Amino acid sequence: MLSACGGGGDDAAAPSNSTGLAGTSAALTTTITALPLEGLSAAEQDSLAFMREEEKLAHDVYIQLDSLWRGYTRVFGNIANSEASHTALVQQLLVRYNLPDPTAALAAGVYQNTTLQNLYTQLVAAGSVSLVEGLKVGAAIEEIDMIDLNKALLETDNQDITLVYQNLLQGSRNHLRAFVGALAGQSVTYVPQYMAEADYQAIVTTPTEC
Ligand code: MN
Ligand code: MN
Repeated sequence: MLSACGGGGDDAAAPSNSTGLAGTSAALTTTITALPLEGLSAAEQDSLAFMREEEKLAHDVYIQLDSLWRGYTRVFGNIANSEASHTALVQQLLVRYNLPDPTAALAAGVYQNTTLQNLYTQLVAAGSVSLVEGLKVGAAIEEIDMIDLNKALLETDNQDITLVYQNLLQGSRNHLRAFVGALAGQSVTYVPQYMAEADYQAIVTTPTEC
């Protein structure tokens, strides 16, 4: 499967082209630094703490699933690298607004947010059953991530936060495409579990974004 970014198959999920972060994270960091420091609402503060942990969850789950399924696919390992960049971007915003990092001193698979803690346990268990179930967990994580990011975007008007969340969304769209493509490679048609069908189709029928 060729993509608009020049990658294909599992490589489409590589951090260098799934989010552009390997090439643009430095540029993004510079852009964020140049934006005005705007007032922060309670909702914005809450979403930053939540997204910091939710991106860490994606990273930690994919590291676990990579350890099980890397003999079959590189998709988990590649996307884990991308999630490390995503959670680091949110951390940059926490630092910028002088907010505490909820993940400070937390090990892999450990979260302050109880919902995320339970989700981690559930997803690792489900994804450990088989490669196909692991890939479905990956797609589900991306669906959940996009729903939460879209909700957070509605609750922010700060330019820096919007920029980061939009970047994370683009990454999630590419990750969803990669997991759905990997499932197709296993002759499995993924059925969205959280997103509206139309929103899902709009993503998986369009090429990888650079
Ligand atoms: Mn992400
Ligand atoms: Mn992702």
